[in-house]
Amino acid sequence: MKLWSFKGGLPALAEHKNDSSPVAIETAPVPSTLVYPLRQHIGNPAKPLVAVGEHVLRGQKIAEADGFVSAPIHASSSGVISDISEQLFPHPSGLSCQSISIKTDGLDQEVEAHSHADFRQLSILELVNIVHDAGIVGLGGAAFPSYIKIDNHSHDWNIHTLILNGAECEPYISCDNSLLMERAQCVTEGIEILLHMLGAKKAILAIEDHAELTFAHLTKTLSDHNNEAIQVVQIPTIYPTGGEKQLIQTLTGREVPSGKIPANIGIVCINVGTVYAIQQAVVKGKVLTSRVVTVTGDGVSTPKNLEARIGTPISQLIDVCHGYTQQAERLIAGGPMMGFALSSDEIPLIKASNCVLVASKEEVVTHKQAMPCIRCGECASVCPVSLLPQQLYWHSRSDQLDKAASFNLLDCIECGSCDIACPSHIPLVQHFRYAKSMLKAQQHEKQQSDTARIRFEAREARIARDKAERAEKSRKKKAALKSKPVKDDVDTTVAKTTIPSSET
Ligand code: SF4
Ligand code: SF4
Repeated sequence: MKLWSFKGGLPALAEHKNDSSPVAIETAPVPSTLVYPLRQHIGNPAKPLVAVGEHVLRGQKIAEADGFVSAPIHASSSGVISDISEQLFPHPSGLSCQSISIKTDGLDQEVEAHSHADFRQLSILELVNIVHDAGIVGLGGAAFPSYIKIDNHSHDWNIHTLILNGAECEPYISCDNSLLMERAQCVTEGIEILLHMLGAKKAILAIEDHAELTFAHLTKTLSDHNNEAIQVVQIPTIYPTGGEKQLIQTLTGREVPSGKIPANIGIVCINVGTVYAIQQAVVKGKVLTSRVVTVTGDGVSTPKNLEARIGTPISQLIDVCHGYTQQAERLIAGGPMMGFALSSDEIPLIKASNCVLVASKEEVVTHKQAMPCIRCGECASVCPVSLLPQQLYWHSRSDQLDKAASFNLLDCIECGSCDIACPSHIPLVQHFRYAKSMLKAQQHEKQQSDTARIRFEAREARIARDKAERAEKSRKKKAALKSKPVKDDVDTTVAKTTIPSSET
């Protein structure tokens, strides 16, 4: 298959994938307390459906989606709701958010699952609803509610190609590769479900070219399935080739325009872990209560890929990996390039958590003393989105958010390539993250004030309309009264008119 390349990127990052992937995926035990931040997906936080003291079962919905861009959350074991309060959660801001805690009862009882042996018996709308109700979001780290991405039914997208993202371009992370090695049958069935839902003609499953064993295994699985619409392709290991837009460009040569989504050019791109979750929801009736996560780095004794319940404290995952080593220096959610530091190991695993990196001093990408920008242009030459990081830096630093937005700040995928390339050691991504969050807050505020203004104007118009209607009604009533003949009046008139005539 012909491949294309995207501009920029970093070709030679040390992989460290084998640290965690040689052993099979291990199941982490159910912890004594599970914690569910209500903000663990893009969009509105979920709304709690339970109260403290209530008993819940595994798979029971404990928080519902709040609006279109949101996702429900389910209990990942049985137990009692022990707390609903603000708690720390994995987020670059380091802030806390409303969270539900469950004291588990050790029974792990679950709600009845509704399986479907043949997904073709279900309508597309039923399939979309299953994905929505299962609380599935992008498990590659983006955490965007998946049902929106695959709801071809409600849009006019004309999807022709489905891309399955198995290219884990960040060093250290190997959970998707392990999933493809151990659960390829389920992933293949998940691809068939998505092809059916989207009406796409072909599916391309992309993995990096160093994953030779995975390629051989997938090739065999696909030939057993005998589905010629699905193709497995190896792509060059260039960071960040697993970025959605970069992967699409590598495989199809097409660029997703700024401000557009892949569906606008007839493509849907989904992470392989998400495909697995969709297959489990449709075929087995299992909602999203666990995920595979890589726990790795020189700071952990035995790096592993673990299947862990959503809500498990990270400290318990570290215990399963035989604890910290002497070199443990920093806890990072995600990989070394796009991850962010965690302030505590009591923070829980969420749907978006694909990796916990316990980094040693050597593994931490530390910023040396930042020097002034020398306008060398190195940052622009590695940017995979063709941005001008140097300009973005100036505008972000001076809070000129409108100018930063005009240089497409919101297109920055925070890949960190410019950080690595900058000879002045400027922490560019930190500036971009901050400016993006400010810009989004500004846009949100404007949206809210626009909504409030529209509501106010609609209310004023309604009041004026009601007043006019009332005035019109009263005018009509008066007019009707005037024109209505009244007997007494007639008699009086007659009397009044007859008297003078008799006088005359
Ligand atoms: S790489 Fe660093 S020093 Fe060079 S232009 Fe970009 S920000 Fe400035
Ligand atoms: S972090 Fe943003 S600006 Fe820097 S290289 Fe990546 S996409 Fe470009």
